[in-house]
Amino acid sequence: MTRSLTFLSWLRTRRAMGRSARGLAAGRSHLWRSLQAALAKTPALAACAGQPLARFAITDPAQMRGDYGAWNSVKLSQAELCALADTAEHGETAQVDSAISAGWSSGSGGGARGLFAASPAERADYIGQSLARLLPARALLSRQRLALHLRASNALYEETQGGRFAFAHFPLEAQPSETLERLQDFAPTILIAPPHRLLAFARAGGTMPSLRHLFCGSEPISPAETRFLAAHFGIRPRSIYQATEGFLGAECEHGHLHLNDHALEIELEPVPGTQGFRPIITDLRRTTQPIVRVRGDDFLELDPHPCACGYAGRGIRPPQGRVNDIWRFGDRAVTPADVVRALDPILGAQQDWQALATREEVTVRVSPHCSNALGDQAVAALRGLADRPVDLVRDLSSWAGPKRRRVVWTNG
Ligand SMILES: [Zn+2]
Repeated sequence: MTRSLTFLSWLRTRRAMGRSARGLAAGRSHLWRSLQAALAKTPALAACAGQPLARFAITDPAQMRGDYGAWNSVKLSQAELCALADTAEHGETAQVDSAISAGWSSGSGGGARGLFAASPAERADYIGQSLARLLPARALLSRQRLALHLRASNALYEETQGGRFAFAHFPLEAQPSETLERLQDFAPTILIAPPHRLLAFARAGGTMPSLRHLFCGSEPISPAETRFLAAHFGIRPRSIYQATEGFLGAECEHGHLHLNDHALEIELEPVPGTQGFRPIITDLRRTTQPIVRVRGDDFLELDPHPCACGYAGRGIRPPQGRVNDIWRFGDRAVTPADVVRALDPILGAQQDWQALATREEVTVRVSPHCSNALGDQAVAALRGLADRPVDLVRDLSSWAGPKRRRVVWTNG
């Protein structure tokens, strides 16, 4: 049953990708009306069901984390959902009798992890949408070997297994060298991995001649890194923009990151002191765990350049960090994107770095191998940008967490 749902979702997404911006908006209005029955069954949203989107309150993810039981339409409690997600993470069979599956996402850089819950039909829909957004139709006609190198094996992808798709998960807990060997044995045609891992493979000289489609996700990637990986692997990596709140966007074959305006209502809330926004996310297709006006964490900038790929979803620049990591010096704001634009041309893809600021000072951390000349240039660039004293530290060992967080603000 899920196979035909996946195909229908693929077809629907493909059709939507050929619509005008106005056509996409009409599609969203239709989806919003269809969503109301699920909202009426969701305790936290029921009071507003049937009303226009703007009447719903904007919700911070922390509110949802406080009681997932209030944020689903299938009467699962917080304890039941957490048990489902825990068992999925450990690869065990669920104790809770339910067709619903749940999992933990690693959360945005430094943020708390979030829980997502989905029905079999929603998982099929997710796969159909992903295939339509990420791969050309001709790719589905040949055999594909999909390698997923992300934090936890994701039931969403595992269900692509079978037919023309072979699937393998490569956990992030393993060392890059070991993972590279196993990946080379598997010989993927499609690889999805965080940029820091792709960089580690490329710097170690690892190649994968079988690769036809390369995707990166779960953390920002800079322009220099994209160019380096494209030169090394012979395929330009394309970004998947995915959050706990949903599949928010994907980069097309022309290199533009488009928001998924065919399936989500993403409102853009201006961020004070900047030209950018943070997303307020409504997923119009998720009913088990409705996502209605949930405030995302990423700092987004619109990319006004028209794209020739034919998809009318809005273009954004690849997100480079969180709104909470915008540096605030009095009235002046320095965004994560500003910091990446300043350091990327200097430090490039061969140097790892992290830039941290407080009200008084800026610290740039680089690896012990970084040359003095590059270190000095990085310090000068940040001093120009922040107008604060800049300290250079040759130590990146304090990087914590599964995700790279290159630009950090400490409000102390
Ligand atoms: Zn495009």
